[in-house]
Amino acid sequence: MSEPTVRWPDSLWAAVTPAGPQLPELIGTAQADVAVIGAGFTGLSTALHLREAGVDVAVLEAMEPGWGASGRNNGQVIPTLSRPDPEDIVARHGSAGERFVALLRDTASTLFDVARRYQIDAEQEQSGWVQPVHSPGRMKIAERRVRQWSKFGAPVELLSREKVRDMLGSDAWYGGFWNRTGGHINPLALARGLAGGALARGARLYARSPVLTITRQGDRWLVKTAKGELSAGSLVIATNAYSGEITKSLVPQIAAEVMPVLSWQMATQPLSDNVRKTIIPGRQAMSDTHGELYFARYDARNRLVTGGAVIGPGDKAARLRARVTQRLQRLWPQIGEVRFDYVWNGYVGMTTDFLPRIHRLGPDAYGWTGCNGRAVALSIALGGEFAKAVQGTSESELALPFTDPVPIPAHGLLRKLAPLMLLVYRRRDAREMA
Ligand SMILES: Cc1cc2nc3c(=O)[nH]c(=O)nc-3n(C[C@H](O)[C@H](O)[C@H](O)COP(=O)(O)OP(=O)(O)OC[C@H]3O[C@@H](n4cnc5c(N)ncnc54)[C@H](O)[C@@H]3O)c2cc1C
Repeated sequence: MSEPTVRWPDSLWAAVTPAGPQLPELIGTAQADVAVIGAGFTGLSTALHLREAGVDVAVLEAMEPGWGASGRNNGQVIPTLSRPDPEDIVARHGSAGERFVALLRDTASTLFDVARRYQIDAEQEQSGWVQPVHSPGRMKIAERRVRQWSKFGAPVELLSREKVRDMLGSDAWYGGFWNRTGGHINPLALARGLAGGALARGARLYARSPVLTITRQGDRWLVKTAKGELSAGSLVIATNAYSGEITKSLVPQIAAEVMPVLSWQMATQPLSDNVRKTIIPGRQAMSDTHGELYFARYDARNRLVTGGAVIGPGDKAARLRARVTQRLQRLWPQIGEVRFDYVWNGYVGMTTDFLPRIHRLGPDAYGWTGCNGRAVALSIALGGEFAKAVQGTSESELALPFTDPVPIPAHGLLRKLAPLMLLVYRRRDAREMA
């Protein structure tokens, strides 16, 4: 029988990243102390941390490492959540929330440390992360963030309008929030590097092996694919926003608590040196406060990697090309003609309150979802915490604010309607600037 082939998205990252390790499918029966489902940042980081502790681990991936959100994202390394600030997290989760905030504060540095420690060339640049504000009224977001994150010891700063103009090369914003530990990476290179690192340290990785069922058998977990089965003492479900996309009913309790929303990514042609020096000259990663988010960072070839959101019928990529070209030309008129060499998309798991959902899913089983577009750095750190959890670290020491899964009511219907939120965001953005 011929091996199933994996279709990669037409992304910049898939085009420029050296191939990952060659992996087998799971065929026949296997045993492991820990089974991990999903080889994105969460699953791979869990496996790597477990191997560092000498724990036997096998990872099952439906496609190839990094095929999900981890290999498709914008690669911004951001040590915050999208909207909730530290006090929101602590108000919701108490002392577990405080430990989570401390984890989150350090996530960017943790990611860059991991890349250094495992000698992964992920085109990483720890050039900082900036969140410029798009209206005078939104300055209070930046002020609140600086106040709260400073209290929790994060190296953050409030930026004046002039400072943001110097940093980004545009007068479009009114000030901003700055965390110098952030930056950007080639995310697929990081995922493949983590896979190589885990493999080299003795993890077993199986690709092209979608898990079809998870059942409890005696005191073990039995994980079945079309061609094999894996029995394990503990389980980490790291399928995140793709939880219901490949095997619909694999973990319905996780799939029903997020809205998977398509986020579009685009990479321009490499910019000329003269132009590049005038647009985000310090090469920071940038995501602003618009509801319809403006975001951009450079890749190693000086392409501006940005993107947007689109709804409605027709050729979405063509409409986005036109819309985002206009946006870039408005922000930076000196950019001139814009050509997008790559346009692709991936699912972001949105929750109703923009907080992630982290679960203990039975005896020695863990999982999470709800990245809300901000978990490149967080998912690597969560992998470290899941590795501790399956080794028996007590809940009072883990930076994991567990909750019970709560499905979003009328999930199927709301999933169809969720993209319409874009119209609400556009209206709000326009009203704020009026
Ligand atoms: C387009 C886009 C842009 C983003 N930009 C940013 C950004 O710039 N900064 C930021 O901080 N965050 C960003 N994010 C979010 C970030 O990418 C994710 O939070 C992070 O990659 C999640 O990693 P993960 O390992 O938990 O999940 P994933 O990387 O999605 O991994 C889940 C894996 O599970 C596998 N899987 C699913 N079902 C099965 C099954 N039945 N059997 C076996 N395997 C299965 C999938 O194939 C997939 O590889 C973005 C996300 C997207 C989609």
